Amino acid sequence: MNINYTVKRSRKRKRTISLQISDNSELVIAAPYFTPVAEINRFVQEKQNWIHKTIQKRKEDSIKNKSKEYITGEMFYYLGESFPLETFFEQNERKGLVFWGNRFYLNTADAAEKGMFYFVSWYKKKAKQHIRQRVDFYSSELKLRAKNVKITSAEKRWGSCSADDNLSFSFRLIMAPPDIIDYVIVHELMHIKEKNHSAAFWKLIEAVMPEYKMHRRWLKDNNHKFIL
Ligand SMILES: [Zn+2]
Repeated sequence: MNINYTVKRSRKRKRTISLQISDNSELVIAAPYFTPVAEINRFVQEKQNWIHKTIQKRKEDSIKNKSKEYITGEMFYYLGESFPLETFFEQNERKGLVFWGNRFYLNTADAAEKGMFYFVSWYKKKAKQHIRQRVDFYSSELKLRAKNVKITSAEKRWGSCSADDNLSFSFRLIMAPPDIIDYVIVHELMHIKEKNHSAAFWKLIEAVMPEYKMHRRWLKDNNHKFIL
């Protein structure tokens, strides 16, 4: 077995040994003050499968949650699919980002510095077109009219509906698959009718989208895909 760990001995601790994986994937054992080393070793041995699995998962998560570097080969989401980026600098050509043939092309002298700006502007433009069009579609389908539709830079909220029926959607939604975007749109439109998350509200959603729970789950599980 090859596991490094730190032991924290505590006089307050009475009997149990516990283990914890820290943010930088280090194993920390908390044990009662006089626990023999052999006992701690045995404990680690017993838990080694769990330890390896947890450390592995932490490492994967930290890769997934990393923010973008805007370098060639990096993948960017658009409507639920990911596409590679190619960065270059051509003085005489137009600066900025284009999406062409399933690839992003970014022309700038300083991609690390300017990359996020260009991607955010591009995503916002696409979000405006796509989301407005889908809001119109569901608006007439459900006979629910929003006063105004705004695209925001919200990081945690995908959408919202104000007391006077103004809808807001995060531009980040445009990275998600179309059926997920539709779910958020139906959800916010339904708040025009029902300004809460009561059972009655979810009934209305279910009538339009029987699979809505899957979409809600997807949004929770795929947060890391929206980081720029
Ligand atoms: Zn809601």
